[in-house]
Amino acid sequence: MKINVHSLTDGVHIFEFDLDGSELDLGKQDFSIKEISLRCTVNKSDKNVYIAFRARAKVGFVCDSCLVDFADVLVEEFSIFYTSEKETVKYDDEQVVQLFKPGTPIDLSNGLKENLLLAIPMKIVCSEDCKGLCLSCGMNLNEDRCNCKKTVVDPRWAGLEQLRNESPCIN
Ligand SMILES: [Zn+2]
Ligand SMILES: [Zn+2]
Repeated sequence: MKINVHSLTDGVHIFEFDLDGSELDLGKQDFSIKEISLRCTVNKSDKNVYIAFRARAKVGFVCDSCLVDFADVLVEEFSIFYTSEKETVKYDDEQVVQLFKPGTPIDLSNGLKENLLLAIPMKIVCSEDCKGLCLSCGMNLNEDRCNCKKTVVDPRWAGLEQLRNESPCIN
């Protein structure tokens, strides 16, 4: 996924890419990025290239709470300033800057990779009101209700109760 910027005239150019997440080589993750459509608005001005990205990715997740597989779509917008002469360019600290060798194409993969990883939520849940699994019997409480007794636990003993529930039980 490269853009031959040296053959572009100064000004704005649009590039679109469709790729599969596996092409990004993200290593082992607990999610899988599937189709990605990427739209790049490239603004070239001499040795500087400003690219605004809009990435739309289908991602397969496993819910942290009920452990069910589900798919979601992430839309991420970000921009990267590419330059082949860092010393002479003034940019603010907020801006992401990447250097490239004059005359070589700009490789978009790294920028895309980093930003997609940032877009993955810390806590992954299939829905905001996911009820999760029963701590006693492991039933998915989104699908059904189990018959486990709901005991009210004194908050001071909650930690202990949790430990007890996490240890395997024999019926
Ligand atoms: Zn869930
Ligand atoms: Zn239960």
